Amino acid sequence: MTDLVTWLHIQLDGGREPDAVTAAHRAILEMHRDDGLGWCTSCGDMTLDDHDRAPVETPCDTLRALASAYADRPGYHPGWAL
Ligand SMILES: [Zn+2]
Repeated sequence: MTDLVTWLHIQLDGGREPDAVTAAHRAILEMHRDDGLGWCTSCGDMTLDDHDRAPVETPCDTLRALASAYADRPGYHPGWAL
Protein backbone atom coordinates (compact mmCIF):
# COMPACT_ATOMS: atom_id res chain seq x y z
CA MET A 1 0.00 0.00 0.00
CA THR A 2 1.37 3.39 -0.93
CA ASP A 3 1.36 6.47 1.26
CA LEU A 4 -1.23 8.06 -1.02
CA VAL A 5 -3.54 5.08 -0.64
CA THR A 6 -3.15 5.05 3.14
CA TRP A 7 -3.85 8.77 3.27
CA LEU A 8 -6.93 8.39 1.05
CA HIS A 9 -8.31 5.64 3.29
CA ILE A 10 -7.88 7.96 6.29
CA GLN A 11 -9.79 10.72 4.48
CA LEU A 12 -12.62 8.33 3.64
CA ASP A 13 -12.72 6.96 7.18
CA GLY A 14 -13.29 10.47 8.51
CA GLY A 15 -16.98 10.47 7.66
CA ARG A 16 -16.85 13.98 6.20
CA GLU A 17 -18.33 13.07 2.82
CA PRO A 18 -21.82 11.86 1.95
CA ASP A 19 -22.02 8.07 2.14
CA ALA A 20 -22.50 7.76 -1.63
CA VAL A 21 -19.34 9.75 -2.32
CA THR A 22 -17.35 7.70 0.17
CA ALA A 23 -18.63 4.46 -1.36
CA ALA A 24 -17.73 5.60 -4.87
CA HIS A 25 -14.24 6.65 -3.83
CA ARG A 26 -13.68 3.38 -1.97
CA ALA A 27 -14.71 1.52 -5.13
CA ILE A 28 -12.15 3.47 -7.14
CA LEU A 29 -9.47 2.63 -4.58
CA GLU A 30 -10.42 -1.05 -4.79
CA MET A 31 -10.20 -1.05 -8.60
CA HIS A 32 -6.78 0.61 -8.61
CA ARG A 33 -4.90 -1.56 -6.11
CA ASP A 34 -1.21 -2.31 -6.13
CA ASP A 35 -0.71 -5.77 -7.63
CA GLY A 36 2.09 -6.46 -5.17
CA LEU A 37 4.77 -5.59 -7.70
CA GLY A 38 4.10 -1.85 -7.74
CA TRP A 39 1.71 -1.82 -10.71
CA CYS A 40 -1.92 -0.71 -10.83
CA THR A 41 -4.40 -3.57 -11.19
CA SER A 42 -6.61 -1.52 -13.48
CA CYS A 43 -4.60 0.99 -15.51
CA GLY A 44 -2.52 0.33 -18.56
CA ASP A 45 -2.87 0.76 -22.26
CA MET A 46 -4.35 -2.25 -24.00
CA THR A 47 -2.71 -3.48 -27.15
CA LEU A 48 -4.67 -4.37 -30.26
CA ASP A 49 -4.68 -8.06 -29.40
CA ASP A 50 -5.89 -7.18 -25.89
CA HIS A 51 -3.47 -9.59 -24.25
CA ASP A 52 -0.67 -7.31 -23.17
CA ARG A 53 -0.92 -4.28 -20.98
CA ALA A 54 1.68 -1.61 -20.49
CA PRO A 55 2.01 -1.57 -16.72
CA VAL A 56 1.35 1.64 -14.83
CA GLU A 57 3.08 2.34 -11.53
CA THR A 58 1.06 2.96 -8.41
CA PRO A 59 -0.23 5.35 -7.37
CA CYS A 60 -1.70 5.72 -10.85
CA ASP A 61 -3.13 8.93 -12.29
CA THR A 62 -6.66 7.84 -11.33
CA LEU A 63 -5.68 7.70 -7.66
CA ARG A 64 -3.75 10.95 -7.97
CA ALA A 65 -6.86 12.59 -9.42
CA LEU A 66 -8.98 11.13 -6.63
CA ALA A 67 -6.57 12.44 -4.00
CA SER A 68 -6.76 15.91 -5.53
CA ALA A 69 -10.36 16.11 -4.37
CA TYR A 70 -8.98 16.20 -0.82
CA ALA A 71 -5.89 18.30 -1.54
CA ASP A 72 -6.91 21.01 0.91
CA ARG A 73 -6.59 18.62 3.85
CA PRO A 74 -3.56 18.11 6.08
CA GLY A 75 -1.15 15.47 4.89
CA TYR A 76 -1.74 15.90 1.16
CA HIS A 77 1.63 15.68 -0.58
CA PRO A 78 2.16 18.12 -3.48
CA GLY A 79 4.13 15.40 -5.25
CA TRP A 80 0.88 13.47 -5.71
CA ALA A 81 -0.55 16.14 -8.02
CA LEU A 82 -1.00 15.24 -11.67
ZN1 LIG B 1 -5.01 2.80 -11.80
